[in-house]
Amino acid sequence: MSLIDTQNFNITCGECAHQFSQSVGDLKLNDRMTICPECGNSHQLDKAGFEAAVAEGEKQIEDLQAKVRSVGENLFKGGN
Ligand SMILES: [Zn+2]
Repeated sequence: MSLIDTQNFNITCGECAHQFSQSVGDLKLNDRMTICPECGNSHQLDKAGFEAAVAEGEKQIEDLQAKVRSVGENLFKGGN
């Protein structure tokens, strides 16, 4: 399981406008199906849109990890 799978998508139900969140991992497992906990309405997220959002999220996580690594390296150099 990658880090992105633990991130949540904020979803607004198209039927009752209830707002809820579902994790990326859940959405992947369920073929991008969202299920509203309020009214039970299910909706399949657009494949291209979902994949673009996941790719963007993964990129941001990688950037963040790279930043943390470089901060760690600098701290190591500086702290004697
Ligand atoms: Zn709903």
